[in-house]
Amino acid sequence: MSDIIKLLPDSVANQIAAGEVIQRPASVVKELLENSIDANASSIKVIIKDSGKSLIQVVDNGIGMSETDARMSFERHATSKIKKAEDLFSISSMGFRGEALASIAAIAQVEMKSRREDDELGTFLKIEGSTITSQEECSASTGTTISVKNLFYNVPARRKFLKSPSVEMRHIIEEFQRISLVNNRVSFSLFHNKKPIYQLISGNQKQRIIALYGKSYNERLIPVDQSTERVSIKGFVGKPEYAKKTRGEQFFFVNGRYIKYPYLHNAIENAFQELLSEESFPTYFLYIEVPPEDIDINIHPTKTEINLTESKMIYAFLRAAIKQSLGKHNITPTLDFDTDPGFNFPNFPKDKPINPPMPKVNPSFNPFESSSFEKENSKSESLKPMYDFIESFDNKTKGESDPIDETNTEDSFQKEVELFSDNTNKTETFIPVSFQNIEESSCENKGKILQVQNRYIVSNIKSGLLIIDQQKAHERILYESYLEQMNSIQSESQQELFPHTIRFSPQDAEIIREIKDDLHHLGFVINEIDSVNFMINGRPANMQENDLEGLIEGLIDNYKKGQEDLCLNKKLSLARSLAINTAIKSGMRLHEEQMQSLIDNLFACSMPEVSIDGKSILSILSTNELELRFK
Ligand code: ADP
Ligand code: MG
Repeated sequence: MSDIIKLLPDSVANQIAAGEVIQRPASVVKELLENSIDANASSIKVIIKDSGKSLIQVVDNGIGMSETDARMSFERHATSKIKKAEDLFSISSMGFRGEALASIAAIAQVEMKSRREDDELGTFLKIEGSTITSQEECSASTGTTISVKNLFYNVPARRKFLKSPSVEMRHIIEEFQRISLVNNRVSFSLFHNKKPIYQLISGNQKQRIIALYGKSYNERLIPVDQSTERVSIKGFVGKPEYAKKTRGEQFFFVNGRYIKYPYLHNAIENAFQELLSEESFPTYFLYIEVPPEDIDINIHPTKTEINLTESKMIYAFLRAAIKQSLGKHNITPTLDFDTDPGFNFPNFPKDKPINPPMPKVNPSFNPFESSSFEKENSKSESLKPMYDFIESFDNKTKGESDPIDETNTEDSFQKEVELFSDNTNKTETFIPVSFQNIEESSCENKGKILQVQNRYIVSNIKSGLLIIDQQKAHERILYESYLEQMNSIQSESQQELFPHTIRFSPQDAEIIREIKDDLHHLGFVINEIDSVNFMINGRPANMQENDLEGLIEGLIDNYKKGQEDLCLNKKLSLARSLAINTAIKSGMRLHEEQMQSLIDNLFACSMPEVSIDGKSILSILSTNELELRFK
């Protein structure tokens, strides 16, 4: 029998390798941008069509390539960046595996035009499925232009599995941001379907962040800047109050490379501990420099994961640096984005007294008891409604004799009266509450409703006590009604008295375009002004949200979460996020009628017991269980 082992043809080997390096259009953008940076370009233009499915073009003014280099660049393991194995340990360029262009050429139709400064003519190459199909001399400006057309044209399975245009475009924008955030001295532009998304001019780090994320970031960021002999950490963290609901703006760069490093990410979150709630994530743009021999980048084909030899030390250093910056942030003036921090002193208004920052001291704080803070907090939180109640009761007994606090006490008292109307009446007539309840419930299935800790609704039912989580219940009700609305033809909408213009980030603008029709069905009237500005002309008929901008931002955040975490389809994801954003929250006081209508509406739902994230909405404490407690 003859031998059966054969070497794979190059085109097949390249296609296999491409599977590792090129997962989606954004991977192509990343590789091409990195090559342009390595070629010392000072200006880079990215042109995208159909979220990268039909065209990804990168134009740079870098060093260009000779005719031979241009041909060679598409060979596997062809690189100008390392010559010997030892070079691997002192890499300062972005690429070095020599795989990217070979991989891209295996799964797309590629055209390249390149000229070095000193050459009179440049080279034009066409490659399809790893084969050069055409080569000519051509006139060209200095630098390289690479066009990648019809990505995955010969790998239908891959093409089919690409996500929606907005998701793919979001990935592209993310890669673009990552690379432009580190190379702030390089000018970049990004176009999608001929519309400009970013046009970034050379500037300092903060200017680049602001150019990418908007002027409001000027006040949102706190500088971080610490260095020792071996490590330096620079960059910015977002003030806690601007934390996001999704892990959007978290950028961590090691030696100029965007890196995913969960361990060090944890150091950052740790520094924010006690400043952020569990559902929010800090914004950060941090740039770490370590000696090249301390990193091993080679462990991941797309080079976004690394090993750091000194990671423990860096963890502690990073955490301390951020804590220090956060600690300072109350007294550090906000730096204007184009003033030089080195020569700038804060301007205190002459006519206003200067308030020195007052430290907050908790005398019972024990640093050796790690959870003492939480306990302290949760205790006071859970007792608050009780104190409120006692206070209002005291005020009531004081009567009208205390004129100083009249308005306040009356106000809060009124609320308590409304809330505890049954109880207050009964305390006056000295009839114990429980008696009446038992009597009523035993004669019919209609119960008194009580709100507990502004969070749960407790109602008396035949078999015992029904306990409902108010927020989860309302989310379920809204979710089902939004879904219904989206599937109906007619939408009811109220016109905005003062239409708002909202500016979105390019990623979010893609999402708005994607969900515009469904939003329209819900009653939102949104018109596109340009690629990132939208006019809100109408909202659902019964929606009374004041902060419409916050609502829509929250909606986009949750929509992203719903799509990424749970793979929900578009409508479900939208209904879910709108429900989360518009539902009443835990902690909100409700009137009896509100509670009653919440209960009625909940039981009109198709799934009244299950919350939209799969948890329980209600629980019943049966009379049997109650009896057992008193045995
Ligand atoms: P790597 O970047 O790992 O070396 P690539 O396949 O990305 O591998 O690129 C192969 C080679 O092609 C590079 O080493 C470089 O010499 C050359 N090259 C690629 N893109 C450019 C560009 N935009 N300008 C100049 N040279 C380039
Ligand atoms: Mg490369």
